[in-house]
Amino acid sequence: MRLLVTGGAGFIGSAVARQAISDGHEVIVLDALTYAANPANLDSIAASNRYSFEQADIRDRAALDGIFARHTPDAVMHLAAESHVDRSIDGPAAFIDTNITGTYTLLEAARAYWGGSRDKPGRDFRFHHISTDEVFGTLGETGLFTETTAYAPNSPYSASKAASDHLVRAWHETYGLPVVLSNCSNNYGPFHFPEKLIPVVILNALAGKAIPVYGRGDNVRDWLYVEDHATALLAVASRGKVGESYNIGGNAEATNLSIVERICGLMDEMHPEGAPHVRLIEFVTDRPGHDFRYAIDASKIREELGWEPSVTLDEGLRQTVRWYLENRDWWQAIQARGHKLERLGLKQAT
Ligand code: NAD
Repeated sequence: MRLLVTGGAGFIGSAVARQAISDGHEVIVLDALTYAANPANLDSIAASNRYSFEQADIRDRAALDGIFARHTPDAVMHLAAESHVDRSIDGPAAFIDTNITGTYTLLEAARAYWGGSRDKPGRDFRFHHISTDEVFGTLGETGLFTETTAYAPNSPYSASKAASDHLVRAWHETYGLPVVLSNCSNNYGPFHFPEKLIPVVILNALAGKAIPVYGRGDNVRDWLYVEDHATALLAVASRGKVGESYNIGGNAEATNLSIVERICGLMDEMHPEGAPHVRLIEFVTDRPGHDFRYAIDASKIREELGWEPSVTLDEGLRQTVRWYLENRDWWQAIQARGHKLERLGLKQAT
Protein backbone atom coordinates (compact mmCIF):
# COMPACT_ATOMS: atom_id res chain seq x y z
CA MET A 1 0.00 0.00 0.00
CA ARG A 2 1.01 3.63 -0.41
CA LEU A 3 0.53 5.10 3.07
CA LEU A 4 0.42 8.78 3.98
CA VAL A 5 1.46 8.86 7.66
CA THR A 6 0.70 12.16 9.39
CA GLY A 7 2.82 12.83 12.48
CA GLY A 8 5.32 10.32 11.12
CA ALA A 9 8.32 12.11 12.66
CA GLY A 10 6.91 11.61 16.16
CA PHE A 11 7.16 8.67 18.54
CA ILE A 12 4.46 6.29 17.27
CA GLY A 13 4.29 7.64 13.70
CA SER A 14 7.97 6.94 13.15
CA ALA A 15 7.55 3.38 14.46
CA VAL A 16 4.70 2.94 11.97
CA ALA A 17 6.81 4.35 9.13
CA ARG A 18 9.77 2.08 9.96
CA GLN A 19 7.54 -1.01 10.25
CA ALA A 20 5.63 -0.17 7.05
CA ILE A 21 8.85 0.18 5.05
CA SER A 22 10.11 -3.11 6.44
CA ASP A 23 6.78 -4.74 5.45
CA GLY A 24 7.26 -3.54 1.84
CA HIS A 25 4.80 -0.62 1.80
CA GLU A 26 5.44 2.83 0.35
CA VAL A 27 5.43 5.59 2.98
CA ILE A 28 4.99 9.33 2.73
CA VAL A 29 5.54 11.01 6.10
CA LEU A 30 3.66 14.29 6.52
CA ASP A 31 4.79 16.23 9.57
CA ALA A 32 4.95 19.90 10.65
CA LEU A 33 8.08 19.12 12.71
CA THR A 34 6.90 20.62 16.00
CA TYR A 35 9.01 20.32 19.17
CA ALA A 36 7.83 16.67 19.51
CA ALA A 37 9.13 15.61 16.11
CA ASN A 38 12.57 14.21 15.48
CA PRO A 39 13.63 13.53 11.89
CA ALA A 40 16.40 11.31 13.33
CA ASN A 41 13.63 8.81 14.20
CA LEU A 42 13.42 8.16 10.45
CA ASP A 43 17.15 7.87 9.71
CA SER A 44 16.99 4.10 9.27
CA ILE A 45 14.50 4.38 6.37
CA ALA A 46 15.60 7.72 4.88
CA ALA A 47 17.53 6.06 2.06
CA SER A 48 14.68 3.78 0.97
CA ASN A 49 13.22 4.57 -2.47
CA ARG A 50 9.80 3.71 -0.99
CA TYR A 51 10.05 6.56 1.53
CA SER A 52 9.45 10.30 1.14
CA PHE A 53 8.89 13.22 3.48
CA GLU A 54 6.60 16.27 3.27
CA GLN A 55 6.92 19.04 5.81
CA ALA A 56 3.36 20.38 6.15
CA ASP A 57 0.78 21.37 8.73
CA ILE A 58 -2.49 19.42 8.84
CA ARG A 59 -4.31 22.74 9.23
CA ASP A 60 -3.02 23.90 5.82
CA ARG A 61 -5.66 22.77 3.32
CA ALA A 62 -3.77 23.93 0.21
CA ALA A 63 -0.65 22.02 1.28
CA LEU A 64 -2.75 18.90 1.98
CA ASP A 65 -4.45 19.05 -1.43
CA GLY A 66 -1.05 19.27 -3.12
CA ILE A 67 0.28 16.28 -1.15
CA PHE A 68 -2.77 14.11 -1.96
CA ALA A 69 -2.49 15.03 -5.66
CA ARG A 70 1.26 14.38 -5.85
CA HIS A 71 1.36 11.12 -3.91
CA THR A 72 -2.08 9.51 -4.52
CA PRO A 73 -2.04 7.44 -1.28
CA ASP A 74 -4.17 4.30 -0.77
CA ALA A 75 -4.64 5.21 2.88
CA VAL A 76 -3.99 7.97 5.39
CA MET A 77 -2.79 6.94 8.83
CA HIS A 78 -3.51 10.04 10.91
CA LEU A 79 -1.25 10.34 13.95
CA ALA A 80 -0.34 14.05 13.87
CA ALA A 81 -1.46 15.60 17.14
CA GLU A 82 -0.45 17.55 20.17
CA SER A 83 0.00 14.60 22.52
CA HIS A 84 1.26 15.58 25.96
CA VAL A 85 -1.41 15.78 28.70
CA ASP A 86 0.56 18.15 30.97
CA ARG A 87 1.10 20.59 28.10
CA SER A 88 -2.65 20.50 27.38
CA ILE A 89 -3.32 21.60 30.95
CA ASP A 90 -0.81 24.47 30.71
CA GLY A 91 -1.95 25.59 27.22
CA PRO A 92 -5.02 23.95 25.68
CA ALA A 93 -5.24 26.20 22.58
CA ALA A 94 -2.71 24.27 20.49
CA PHE A 95 -4.62 21.05 21.26
CA ILE A 96 -7.91 22.46 20.04
CA ASP A 97 -6.22 23.84 16.94
CA THR A 98 -4.23 20.82 15.84
CA ASN A 99 -6.27 17.92 17.16
CA ILE A 100 -9.72 19.26 16.24
CA THR A 101 -9.30 21.86 13.48
CA GLY A 102 -6.36 19.96 12.01
CA THR A 103 -8.30 16.70 11.87
CA TYR A 104 -11.28 18.50 10.31
CA THR A 105 -9.02 20.04 7.63
CA LEU A 106 -7.40 16.68 6.89
CA LEU A 107 -10.82 14.99 6.68
CA GLU A 108 -12.00 17.57 4.15
CA ALA A 109 -8.83 17.22 2.06
CA ALA A 110 -9.19 13.42 2.21
CA ARG A 111 -12.88 13.60 1.23
CA ALA A 112 -12.09 15.76 -1.82
CA TYR A 113 -9.31 13.37 -2.84
CA TRP A 114 -11.51 10.28 -2.30
CA GLY A 115 -14.18 11.92 -4.48
CA GLY A 116 -17.15 9.83 -3.33
CA SER A 117 -20.40 10.31 -1.44
CA ARG A 118 -22.75 8.09 0.57
CA ASP A 119 -24.41 6.93 -2.66
CA LYS A 120 -21.41 6.70 -4.94
CA PRO A 121 -18.10 5.37 -3.62
CA GLY A 122 -14.98 7.24 -4.63
CA ARG A 123 -11.55 5.84 -5.35
CA ASP A 124 -10.19 2.89 -3.36
CA PHE A 125 -9.01 4.66 -0.21
CA ARG A 126 -9.31 4.64 3.56
CA PHE A 127 -8.76 7.11 6.39
CA HIS A 128 -7.34 5.57 9.57
CA HIS A 129 -7.67 7.80 12.61
CA ILE A 130 -5.34 6.96 15.51
CA SER A 131 -6.60 7.83 18.98
CA THR A 132 -6.21 7.07 22.65
CA ASP A 133 -8.05 5.15 25.37
CA GLU A 134 -8.05 8.40 27.38
CA VAL A 135 -11.23 9.44 25.50
CA PHE A 136 -13.12 6.94 27.71
CA GLY A 137 -12.21 8.75 30.93
CA THR A 138 -11.36 6.74 33.99
CA LEU A 139 -12.17 3.27 35.35
CA GLY A 140 -12.57 2.17 38.97
CA GLU A 141 -10.76 -0.86 40.38
CA THR A 142 -12.44 -3.22 37.89
CA GLY A 143 -13.76 -3.27 34.31
CA LEU A 144 -12.22 -2.70 30.89
CA PHE A 145 -12.74 -0.18 28.08
CA THR A 146 -14.44 -1.78 25.06
CA GLU A 147 -15.23 -0.24 21.67
CA THR A 148 -18.71 0.64 22.96
CA THR A 149 -17.67 2.32 26.22
CA ALA A 150 -19.19 5.82 26.41
CA TYR A 151 -16.79 8.72 25.91
CA ALA A 152 -16.00 10.75 29.06
CA PRO A 153 -12.71 12.61 28.51
CA ASN A 154 -11.26 14.48 31.49
CA SER A 155 -8.24 16.46 30.22
CA PRO A 156 -8.01 19.07 27.45
CA TYR A 157 -5.86 16.54 25.53
CA SER A 158 -8.36 13.69 25.78
CA ALA A 159 -11.30 16.02 25.09
CA SER A 160 -9.59 17.23 21.90
CA LYS A 161 -8.90 13.65 20.83
CA ALA A 162 -12.51 12.67 21.62
CA ALA A 163 -13.72 15.55 19.44
CA SER A 164 -11.51 14.38 16.58
CA ASP A 165 -12.83 10.80 16.91
CA HIS A 166 -16.39 12.12 16.64
CA LEU A 167 -15.54 14.14 13.52
CA VAL A 168 -14.06 11.07 11.84
CA ARG A 169 -17.11 8.99 12.70
CA ALA A 170 -19.41 11.74 11.42
CA TRP A 171 -17.51 12.03 8.11
CA HIS A 172 -18.21 8.33 7.61
CA GLU A 173 -21.89 8.50 8.60
CA THR A 174 -22.61 11.76 6.75
CA TYR A 175 -20.39 11.64 3.68
CA GLY A 176 -19.57 7.92 3.46
CA LEU A 177 -15.82 8.52 3.79
CA PRO A 178 -14.24 5.06 4.32
CA VAL A 179 -12.76 5.39 7.80
CA VAL A 180 -11.35 3.07 10.46
CA LEU A 181 -10.50 4.16 13.99
CA SER A 182 -8.32 2.80 16.76
CA ASN A 183 -7.94 3.72 20.44
CA CYS A 184 -4.81 2.60 22.18
CA SER A 185 -3.39 2.51 25.68
CA ASN A 186 -0.09 4.07 26.81
CA ASN A 187 2.83 3.41 24.53
CA TYR A 188 6.46 3.12 25.54
CA GLY A 189 9.69 2.12 23.82
CA PRO A 190 12.58 3.48 21.75
CA PHE A 191 12.44 7.09 20.41
CA HIS A 192 10.02 8.25 23.15
CA PHE A 193 10.42 12.01 23.68
CA PRO A 194 12.24 12.57 26.98
CA GLU A 195 9.39 14.46 28.67
CA LYS A 196 7.24 11.31 29.07
CA LEU A 197 7.23 9.15 32.20
CA ILE A 198 9.39 6.18 31.15
CA PRO A 199 12.24 8.16 29.52
CA VAL A 200 12.14 10.63 32.44
CA VAL A 201 12.66 7.76 34.88
CA ILE A 202 15.52 6.24 32.86
CA LEU A 203 17.33 9.53 32.23
CA ASN A 204 16.89 10.88 35.77
CA ALA A 205 18.11 7.59 37.21
CA LEU A 206 21.13 7.77 34.91
CA ALA A 207 21.85 11.36 35.98
CA GLY A 208 21.28 10.60 39.69
CA LYS A 209 18.38 13.10 39.73
CA ALA A 210 15.09 12.85 41.63
CA ILE A 211 12.50 10.62 39.91
CA PRO A 212 9.12 12.34 40.25
CA VAL A 213 6.00 10.23 40.82
CA TYR A 214 2.56 11.84 40.89
CA GLY A 215 0.51 11.43 44.09
CA ARG A 216 1.29 8.02 45.61
CA GLY A 217 2.00 6.45 42.21
CA ASP A 218 -1.12 4.29 42.41
CA ASN A 219 -2.66 5.37 39.06
CA VAL A 220 -3.01 2.34 36.81
CA ARG A 221 -2.22 2.30 33.09
CA ASP A 222 -2.15 -0.43 30.46
CA TRP A 223 1.21 -0.33 28.64
CA LEU A 224 1.96 -1.33 25.05
CA TYR A 225 5.37 -1.56 23.41
CA VAL A 226 5.38 0.97 20.56
CA GLU A 227 6.49 -1.54 17.92
CA ASP A 228 3.53 -3.76 18.83
CA HIS A 229 1.26 -0.73 18.40
CA ALA A 230 2.78 -0.16 14.95
CA THR A 231 1.95 -3.72 13.82
CA ALA A 232 -1.58 -3.35 15.20
CA LEU A 233 -2.05 -0.08 13.32
CA LEU A 234 -0.87 -1.58 10.04
CA ALA A 235 -3.34 -4.45 10.55
CA VAL A 236 -6.20 -1.98 11.17
CA ALA A 237 -5.21 0.26 8.24
CA SER A 238 -5.03 -2.60 5.78
CA ARG A 239 -7.63 -5.10 7.08
CA GLY A 240 -9.87 -3.26 9.56
CA LYS A 241 -13.56 -3.13 8.64
CA VAL A 242 -14.66 0.27 7.31
CA GLY A 243 -16.71 2.26 9.82
CA GLU A 244 -15.40 0.22 12.78
CA SER A 245 -13.17 1.14 15.67
CA TYR A 246 -10.64 -1.15 17.37
CA ASN A 247 -9.26 -0.96 20.90
CA ILE A 248 -5.55 -1.76 21.12
CA GLY A 249 -3.86 -2.66 24.41
CA GLY A 250 -0.97 -4.58 25.84
CA ASN A 251 -2.92 -6.56 28.45
CA ALA A 252 -0.26 -5.19 30.81
CA GLU A 253 -1.76 -3.15 33.63
CA ALA A 254 0.63 -1.63 36.13
CA THR A 255 0.62 1.21 38.65
CA ASN A 256 2.93 4.10 37.87
CA LEU A 257 4.94 3.26 40.99
CA SER A 258 5.44 -0.33 39.87
CA ILE A 259 6.67 0.88 36.44
CA VAL A 260 9.14 3.23 38.14
CA GLU A 261 10.35 0.50 40.50
CA ARG A 262 10.81 -2.00 37.67
CA ILE A 263 12.87 0.52 35.69
CA CYS A 264 14.96 1.27 38.79
CA GLY A 265 15.64 -2.47 39.10
CA LEU A 266 16.71 -2.67 35.44
CA MET A 267 18.93 0.39 35.94
CA ASP A 268 20.54 -1.27 39.00
CA GLU A 269 21.44 -4.17 36.69
CA MET A 270 22.58 -2.16 33.64
CA HIS A 271 24.02 0.90 35.41
CA PRO A 272 25.14 -0.45 38.82
CA GLU A 273 27.12 2.71 39.68
CA GLY A 274 23.92 4.50 40.76
CA ALA A 275 22.23 1.58 42.57
CA PRO A 276 19.87 1.37 44.30
CA HIS A 277 18.00 3.79 42.01
CA VAL A 278 14.73 3.53 44.00
CA ARG A 279 16.29 5.94 46.50
CA LEU A 280 15.74 8.70 43.86
CA ILE A 281 11.92 8.31 43.87
CA GLU A 282 10.17 11.47 45.03
CA PHE A 283 6.38 11.79 45.34
CA VAL A 284 5.06 15.08 43.89
CA THR A 285 1.66 16.83 43.89
CA ASP A 286 -0.81 14.98 41.69
CA ARG A 287 -1.89 16.28 38.27
CA PRO A 288 -5.40 17.91 38.31
CA GLY A 289 -8.09 15.60 36.88
CA HIS A 290 -5.66 12.67 36.93
CA ASP A 291 -7.57 9.60 35.73
CA PHE A 292 -7.24 6.70 38.17
CA ARG A 293 -7.18 3.68 35.90
CA TYR A 294 -7.20 2.82 32.18
CA ALA A 295 -7.48 -0.76 30.94
CA ILE A 296 -8.29 -2.10 27.50
CA ASP A 297 -10.29 -5.06 26.28
CA ALA A 298 -8.43 -5.85 23.04
CA SER A 299 -10.42 -8.97 22.15
CA LYS A 300 -11.96 -7.46 19.00
CA ILE A 301 -8.65 -6.78 17.24
CA ARG A 302 -7.34 -10.15 18.44
CA GLU A 303 -10.35 -12.07 17.13
CA GLU A 304 -11.01 -10.10 13.91
CA LEU A 305 -7.48 -9.23 12.81
CA GLY A 306 -5.40 -11.85 14.64
CA TRP A 307 -3.18 -9.24 16.31
CA GLU A 308 -1.48 -9.78 19.67
CA PRO A 309 1.40 -8.00 21.40
CA SER A 310 4.74 -9.73 20.80
CA VAL A 311 6.53 -8.73 24.01
CA THR A 312 5.56 -8.72 27.68
CA LEU A 313 5.82 -5.53 29.74
CA ASP A 314 8.99 -6.78 31.46
CA GLU A 315 10.65 -7.65 28.15
CA GLY A 316 9.60 -4.35 26.60
CA LEU A 317 10.89 -2.33 29.56
CA ARG A 318 14.22 -4.17 29.41
CA GLN A 319 14.56 -3.42 25.67
CA THR A 320 13.61 0.22 26.28
CA VAL A 321 16.11 0.81 29.09
CA ARG A 322 18.82 -0.83 26.99
CA TRP A 323 17.91 1.36 23.98
CA TYR A 324 18.22 4.60 25.99
CA LEU A 325 21.58 3.49 27.39
CA GLU A 326 22.86 2.55 23.93
CA ASN A 327 21.46 5.56 22.06
CA ARG A 328 22.67 8.48 24.12
CA ASP A 329 23.32 10.59 20.97
CA TRP A 330 19.60 10.51 20.20
CA TRP A 331 18.38 11.98 23.51
CA GLN A 332 21.43 14.16 24.11
CA ALA A 333 20.69 15.90 20.78
CA ILE A 334 17.15 16.65 22.02
CA GLN A 335 18.52 17.97 25.29
CA ALA A 336 20.97 20.13 23.36
CA ARG A 337 18.04 21.60 21.41
CA GLY A 338 17.02 23.01 24.75
CA HIS A 339 13.42 21.84 24.82
CA LYS A 340 12.52 22.88 28.30
CA LEU A 341 14.12 19.84 29.76
CA GLU A 342 14.05 21.61 33.09
CA ARG A 343 10.64 19.93 32.99
CA LEU A 344 12.54 16.72 33.64
CA GLY A 345 12.21 16.18 37.31
CA LEU A 346 9.07 18.29 37.43
CA LYS A 347 6.57 16.96 34.95
CA GLN A 348 5.75 13.54 33.63
CA ALA A 349 3.29 12.06 31.22
CA THR A 350 0.39 9.74 31.92
P1 NAD B 1 4.20 12.72 19.29
O1 NAD B 1 3.94 13.99 20.04
O2 NAD B 1 5.47 11.97 19.55
O3 NAD B 1 4.16 12.99 17.72
C1 NAD B 1 3.22 13.83 17.13
C2 NAD B 1 3.75 14.25 15.77
O4 NAD B 1 2.75 15.07 15.15
C3 NAD B 1 5.03 15.09 15.84
O5 NAD B 1 6.00 14.59 14.94
C4 NAD B 1 4.56 16.49 15.44
O6 NAD B 1 5.56 17.25 14.75
C5 NAD B 1 3.38 16.19 14.54
N1 NAD B 1 2.43 17.31 14.51
C6 NAD B 1 1.93 17.98 15.58
N2 NAD B 1 1.11 18.98 15.15
C7 NAD B 1 1.09 18.89 13.79
C8 NAD B 1 0.40 19.61 12.77
N3 NAD B 1 -0.41 20.65 13.07
N4 NAD B 1 0.58 19.24 11.48
C9 NAD B 1 1.41 18.19 11.15
N5 NAD B 1 2.10 17.50 12.08
C10 NAD B 1 1.93 17.83 13.38
O7 NAD B 1 2.93 11.81 19.55
P2 NAD B 1 2.81 10.23 19.68
O8 NAD B 1 2.98 9.84 21.09
O9 NAD B 1 3.63 9.59 18.62
O10 NAD B 1 1.26 10.03 19.34
C11 NAD B 1 0.83 9.90 17.98
C12 NAD B 1 -0.68 9.74 17.95
O11 NAD B 1 -1.06 8.59 18.69
C13 NAD B 1 -1.43 10.92 18.55
O12 NAD B 1 -2.56 11.16 17.75
C14 NAD B 1 -1.82 10.43 19.93
O13 NAD B 1 -3.01 11.05 20.35
C15 NAD B 1 -2.02 8.95 19.68
N6 NAD B 1 -1.79 8.08 20.84
C16 NAD B 1 -0.64 8.19 21.59
C17 NAD B 1 -0.43 7.33 22.65
C18 NAD B 1 0.84 7.37 23.47
O14 NAD B 1 0.96 6.65 24.46
N7 NAD B 1 1.85 8.16 23.09
C19 NAD B 1 -1.39 6.36 22.97
C20 NAD B 1 -2.54 6.28 22.19
C21 NAD B 1 -2.72 7.14 21.12
